[in-house]
Amino acid sequence: MKHALVTGGSRGIGRAVAERLAADGYNVVINYRANQQAAEETLAAIQQNGGCGELLPFDVSDGAAIEAALEQWSAAHPDEYISVLVNNAGIRMDSLMIFMQEESWHKVLDTTLNGFFHITRRLLKDMLTHRYGRIVNVASLSGLKGMPGQANYSAAKAALIGATKALAQEVAARKVTVNAVAPGFIATDMTKELDEGELKKMIPAGRFGKPEEVAAAVAFLASEGASYITGETISVNGGLYT
Ligand code: NAP
Repeated sequence: MKHALVTGGSRGIGRAVAERLAADGYNVVINYRANQQAAEETLAAIQQNGGCGELLPFDVSDGAAIEAALEQWSAAHPDEYISVLVNNAGIRMDSLMIFMQEESWHKVLDTTLNGFFHITRRLLKDMLTHRYGRIVNVASLSGLKGMPGQANYSAAKAALIGATKALAQEVAARKVTVNAVAPGFIATDMTKELDEGELKKMIPAGRFGKPEEVAAAVAFLASEGASYITGETISVNGGLYT
């Protein structure tokens, strides 16, 4: 069985990615931090459609917790490895820079950027040994364009795109690809308090995107067919370019 880990797979984009990868034949390891009920709903939806999955809670900003959880997973699956990693977990804690608290800066960077570092470094060794792997990082339009009120989030996502390009060059010869997707406005819990009616006026497609529309791009980059694409960032934004 092929295994795919989706961080933040309990809700939103991560849930759609988990369901899509399960439909593509992966055993999906669904990570989440706190919302067990939502994670169980994701798993139930996968199983109802005949797919396979399992839950693996840990906080992506906690290096020791990541190590312990992945060690536990490896012990339960001897001789197997996670060949697809989707670094999707993310939070936003918006405020203008002048009012931004230290905590908001660090929490956003710890989740997006340190999470990427700790999990990817841990899983990379097996991908390189097996000479096959797919890493897909969920960045953002904010990381390409920069968004006022989101200096922390924009910095974290821009850094993630930079790391995607660097790592892609390190591991390409071992048939491990590293890519990113950069969603625009997608209808999830993260955007539920935004005014879609107002914001959609600037989106050429005239609406927010659906999590499934991001999942389709992630699934392509995670597929064997995307073997010659690496270091790339695919925008999924309804035409809302920088
Ligand atoms: P969401 O609906 O708020 O879901 C966030 C997911 O991340 C949840 O599964 C949550 O787990 C998990 N998570 C948060 N912090 C975590 C941590 N420290 N450790 C483990 N899991 C954690 O968000 P979303 O809209 O689907 O966003 C998913 C990704 O897409 C994020 O990286 C976000 O920055 C990016 N993105 C979203 C949009 C958008 O418009 N929605 C646009 C561009 C980029 P719990 O359920 O346990 O809380």
